[in-house]
Amino acid sequence: MAIFASDGRPLPQPTPTTQPFFDAAKKRKLRLQRCPRDGFFYYPRSRCPKCLGDDWTWQDTNGLGEIYSYTVDRIAHDPAFRAFAPFAVALVELDCGPRMTARIADCEVSDLRVGLPVEAHYEDVDDITLVSFRPRTA
Ligand SMILES: [Zn+2]
Repeated sequence: MAIFASDGRPLPQPTPTTQPFFDAAKKRKLRLQRCPRDGFFYYPRSRCPKCLGDDWTWQDTNGLGEIYSYTVDRIAHDPAFRAFAPFAVALVELDCGPRMTARIADCEVSDLRVGLPVEAHYEDVDDITLVSFRPRTA
């Protein structure tokens, strides 16, 4: 797995723990771990963050949520992201519970707001699929 994309961005490096998340993203599914007692959690890890149980399973979510908070990077402090500036990074509260930090795609930064309904969005970058969110289309 390449460390950098052909456009220069650093890429996530899946591990055995995170690979199912990226495999699902490639199929346009937002799949998260779900504890039978505590529900969904994110980021991927070996044990439930609440009860430390290891009897969780991977389950598809509806990929829907809303912006809980966000920030706009207008100058791209990392040169690898200069071509993308200005861009938004948000904390998205998913309908199924967890909050995910992700880029917001297909949205002018002036249209961003807390509470904006968003849906998972998938971007194939070389051999990996990145998950971001965009304003809901339906
Ligand atoms: Zn649990």
